This record gives sequence, C-alpha cells and structure tokens, in this order.
Amino acid sequence: MSTNPSPLLQVENLAVHFPMPRTSWFQRGPSPVLQAVSDVSFSIQPGETLALVGESGCGKTTLGRALVGLYPTTRGSVHFKGQELGSMTREQRQQTRCAIQMIFQDPYESLNPRLPVSNVITEPLLIHGIGSRSERADRARELIAQVGLPVDALNRYPHQFSGGQRQRIAIARALGPEPQLIVADEPLSALDVSIQSQILNLMSELREQRHLSYLFISHDLSAVHHLADRVAVMYLGRLVEVAARSDLFETPGHPYTRALLDAIPRVGQGRRARGRTIQGDLPSPLKPPTGCAFHPRCPKAQDLCKVEAPTLLPAPGREHQLVACHFKN
Ligand code: SF4
Repeated sequence: MSTNPSPLLQVENLAVHFPMPRTSWFQRGPSPVLQAVSDVSFSIQPGETLALVGESGCGKTTLGRALVGLYPTTRGSVHFKGQELGSMTREQRQQTRCAIQMIFQDPYESLNPRLPVSNVITEPLLIHGIGSRSERADRARELIAQVGLPVDALNRYPHQFSGGQRQRIAIARALGPEPQLIVADEPLSALDVSIQSQILNLMSELREQRHLSYLFISHDLSAVHHLADRVAVMYLGRLVEVAARSDLFETPGHPYTRALLDAIPRVGQGRRARGRTIQGDLPSPLKPPTGCAFHPRCPKAQDLCKVEAPTLLPAPGREHQLVACHFKN
C-alpha cells in the first residue's frame, strides 16, 4: 500500500479476533467470534502522522493496542523498520518495545497514583535497563521540562495535577525510552476543550523536534485536520479509506467518510451549528452485515453491496486515495 520503500511501520492484513463464550446452552454451530479488526493494511513513514478515525467501537483502540503488544493478533504481519515482529530476537523485541510507545485516553488511569512523577517517568527506563540511577533522574528533569512542566512537578503525585498536566506527564513517560513511533489513543478526549489544543500543539512540537511518527487514534476530525499527514478511516474493524489529509477532507471517496465529515459541528455566523448525525447504529462486530458492512447505513447502497465486499483500491484518477466502495467517486 505504501509508495515509500522503507516505512517505519508496515501492517499487512492484520486481524484481531476474540472468541466469545456462547450465550446459551442451546446455541448451535461454532462459537461466536468478535471480529474487532479484520484484514487491515497500512504503513507509517518516519516522521509521519497517520490518523485513524471512526466511530466508537469500530476497532481503532483494539488495533492500537495490538500494535504495542497489549492484544494478541489473529492473522497478518507487522514489520517495524523492515523486520517482522514475530521473527525478532528477544533483544530486538526489547528494542522495538522501547521504540513504540503508547499514550492512553485517560492520563489518570494510565499513571500509577502511588508513585511520585519522577518514578512514573523513569519506570519504563528502569524496566528496560536504560541508564544509571543518576542518568535516569537527569532524564526525568529533561523530559518534564520538554513537556512544559516545572522541575518540582517531579516530587508530586499524579492526583495533584489537572487532566492536561497529567497528559503532559504521560507524554514525558512515553518519551523516556526515545521512541520513534507513538500510538496515541484518543489522547485529547478526556480533556477540557480549552486544554486539548495545548496538548495537540505539544504533540506537534515534539514531532518536529524528535522526528517522531504518530498513529493518532481519534474521533475528533478537527484535531485530525490539525495534526495528521494522512488519514485512515475505519468502519467495523476494516479500513474503508486511506488518503492524504487534504484529499480526504476535500474530496472524500467513501460514503462513510463523507458522513463523518458532515457530522463535524460547523462554526458560522457567531454560533456553533450541530453537524448531521450518521443514520443508524454501528452494527455488532459479532455479526457484521454481509457484503459491504456499511450497506445498512449507506445512502448509495445497491443490491451488489449486500452480497459482495468491496476491496480497498485507488479512487478513479487518484492513485494515492484508497477507497473500499463499489461505487466510489
Ligand atoms: Fe455504500 Fe455500496 Fe459503497 Fe458500501 S460499497 S459504501 S454500501 S455504495
């Protein structure tokens, strides 16, 4: 899918499925399987931000967690700097674990409340055996300053900070092992609107300073527009569109992408207008619809859509805009 020969991260046909218990003794046939992520392929270049968007429950978080090893994958491959994760030696896996870090949605839950901030930040370094005690302490001072907090913050505890400050601490912790890729799972959604832009700006500055790559998981398309170079749209565990940010926002190729864009609240004539809501609900990944999974909600659906799943292919005349739709523009 990538045009660059040496992506930092290359994901091919990844699936993350969870076997579920039967709900009744009388249920026949194979056990139900929750298909959280299916057949997902994408790449991220060094220094690039790929946003992953879609409604809650579409599989974004599961994909992000699978990439950092928090969930097992069912099928497919993940290459980091050209090497398949499954074929790495123990030492290479350890290095890769340092090189891919994650920022979580709720900074309070992701930080150990019993540890002072200095230990919160140096803990990953200790786990990975990086630096001496004094080197780790120096690193904590450097990192806390980089995320815009005073050095005396190191002696306090996570509960003594606001949500935005806690997210800054979580970012400092993630930066400790010198990652090249950060999987940021809805890093703004637990924060006040006034704080969100500060964290977004911080992420943007750190990307420039450190040549970081992000997989930026978000349902907030305004934030995505601010930070992303490219955008991948996920629907019921599958990618339905992958495109450069400007192409996706200006000429969306998939009806679901268009519906997401239409749902963005607009600011106009001094008041904030509500965006249009997407019709219907996200179907259950335990029983995805046949054919194109979006067909029960799609205003353009035709008979073919109910029986044949579309493949992610370039839109007509737009080589780098991939769209999974039988009737793409
Ligand atoms: Fe809509 Fe059919 Fe395209 Fe699916 S394949 S998005 S149902 S038009």
